[in-house]
Amino acid sequence: MTQNATKTITVLGATGSVGLSTLDLVRRAPEEFRVVALTANSRVQELAALAKEFRPAVAVIGRQDKYPELKDALAGTGIECAAGDEALACAAAMTADIVMAAIVGAAGLAPTLAAVRTGTTVALANKECLVCAGDLMMQEVSKHGARLLPVDSEHNAIFQVFDVNHTNTVKRLVLTASGGPFLRRNSATFSTIKPSEAVAHPNWDMGAKISVDSATMMNKGLEVIEAFHLFPVEKDQIDILIHPQSVIHSMVEYIDGSTLAQLGSPDMRVPIASCLAWPDRMQTPARRLDLAAIGSLTFERPDYEKFKCMALAKAALNIGGAAPAVLNAANEVAVAAFLSEQIAFTDIPEIVEQTLHKCDMKEPHSLPNVIEIDVEARRVAVSQIAQLK
Ligand code: NAD
Ligand code: MG
Repeated sequence: MTQNATKTITVLGATGSVGLSTLDLVRRAPEEFRVVALTANSRVQELAALAKEFRPAVAVIGRQDKYPELKDALAGTGIECAAGDEALACAAAMTADIVMAAIVGAAGLAPTLAAVRTGTTVALANKECLVCAGDLMMQEVSKHGARLLPVDSEHNAIFQVFDVNHTNTVKRLVLTASGGPFLRRNSATFSTIKPSEAVAHPNWDMGAKISVDSATMMNKGLEVIEAFHLFPVEKDQIDILIHPQSVIHSMVEYIDGSTLAQLGSPDMRVPIASCLAWPDRMQTPARRLDLAAIGSLTFERPDYEKFKCMALAKAALNIGGAAPAVLNAANEVAVAAFLSEQIAFTDIPEIVEQTLHKCDMKEPHSLPNVIEIDVEARRVAVSQIAQLK
């Protein structure tokens, strides 16, 4: 950053892929950031090591049973320790200039909302919270004067090239998608895909859940829903374009035929840095883009038959009401079951579709109501999995 004012930062999901990339940038700019709170779910030793390095006021572990281990690990450091859901929300609500919301899944909803309600700047990686409670979340953002900065690379790209002062000149958003590891694989063999193959993304190094979502392309469907909530466009103004090199991170097309894009090497530290330094910019160690070495960029249309999850997510957005929350919950259950080898890769869209058919689609009216919908959809998804056997 060009200015030298220290920013205070909280990282929710500090031990994850986005959390660690965020802290890597903080580590490289020690004068520019001071860490307020760090949270994790179960990896106590990793959290404790990060806390010792970054010296937050508070370290919180989601799992209550891990509290003694955390307290032990941080004994004598003066860092306050806490555990459980309430403690996560309290950490999220501590005064900080920026809160990085990088918990995976609907578990991130309550802490992210707690941060939003302080009216601060929230760097949002946790796309699932917009998928399951987008309207409520955006209402809270405007009610509390908070600012959401999109971390997801596509949304960050759009944020960088979206003309907020002339929104009526935007014709459409083009979300680029690498296509994941199975873009070229014959779908007849999809049922034999192993978790280790699904988490091996060709371009990005990410957590297990989002890697599987990229393999099923549910991730791109979730991102369409995310984009719908983040930007003032209609549902039919958001398109998906396959771009296997992941160099163009997304585009905005304007009414005059101009299309603006953001490009960069596939390294999450670029969009994260854009949020951390916003509205300024900061240095990152990301590999510079060498377009001559890359040679060519290619594009193709998405295949909704082959990647049914993408179609299901778009359908859930069009149905509206509780459908996106149900879709998200069923997907989280199905992905976890796939990762633990209880179901096949091809069962993921089946479980999501059956759960969508069986759940009530009434619009959630409050956060507790979203959580009820989420819990019920998970119950239905689990029962659908049981019936597969
Ligand atoms: P990850 O699995 O690597 O890390 C998740 C983090 O969340 C961990 O710190 C974990 O401790 C914490 N967590 C998990 N369950 C929790 C719970 N129940 N309560 C509290 N904390 C919990 O995930 P990730 O890849 O870093 O992704 C994080 C979020 O960012 C996801 O929503 C993902 O979709 C989004 N995202 C990630 C990337 C990426 O490159 N990894 C890119 C774009 C968007
Ligand atoms: Mg993305």
